[in-house]
Amino acid sequence: MSATPSSQPLVAVLTGAGISTDSGIPDYRGPNGVWRKDPDAEKLVTYDYYMNDPEIRRRAWQVRRRAVTLTAEPNAAHRAIAGLEKAGVPVRVITQNVDGLHQLAGMPDRKVLELHGSARQFVCTQCGGRGPMEDAIARVEAGEDDPGCPICGGILKSTTVMFGEHLDPAVLGEAVAITKACQVFFAVGSSLQVHPAAGLAGLAAEHGARLVVVNAEPTPYDEVADEVVREPIGTALPRLLGELTAH
Ligand code: ZN
Repeated sequence: MSATPSSQPLVAVLTGAGISTDSGIPDYRGPNGVWRKDPDAEKLVTYDYYMNDPEIRRRAWQVRRRAVTLTAEPNAAHRAIAGLEKAGVPVRVITQNVDGLHQLAGMPDRKVLELHGSARQFVCTQCGGRGPMEDAIARVEAGEDDPGCPICGGILKSTTVMFGEHLDPAVLGEAVAITKACQVFFAVGSSLQVHPAAGLAGLAAEHGARLVVVNAEPTPYDEVADEVVREPIGTALPRLLGELTAH
């Protein structure tokens, strides 16, 4: 361990869809995922279809308008992570989720790395201007079926990374740095099958972090993990994180 005895260990928490199912957000990639039921839905989140087909955009805005993501509330697991940070433990969240629930639970925005962007923000594909998704949704509710950029008129989308788009290299670079520097790495509610997020678990183990996998189903990294926890995240994570602050 590189940390001195007096310093608090850096805790990294990688989170996937499984942490948010208790908040009512479905796992799109899971066995009952939306995409399995409606393959056409994948077009709505594929960059080329989205940019080239106004009908796809109209449908995408209707999906965003009805999305439970924007009204979901954080659950016990999100609150446990934020509570650890409030207790003075250095914590960084690396999330595959786009629901913004870590921040709503009280994690400072700068300590949450959203690998796949956020459903709570829009971005202009032309000028890069950003704003709160609720503003764009309000325009859809008011009758616009494909609201354009308020600055340049360009096509708007959520900041979530679509198929055909790259992850933000700055965000990914910071995630790698935290993964290498941490002493404990929790992988929570992620199948650890989607790269590059999944590879972070292996990287953490390679760099000497204690790897704890908390997931209902087996993952490819269970074998290299120091601890594998199958119990429900909503009870497991508060218990595991509580042990870090128990004296
Ligand atoms: Zn614009």
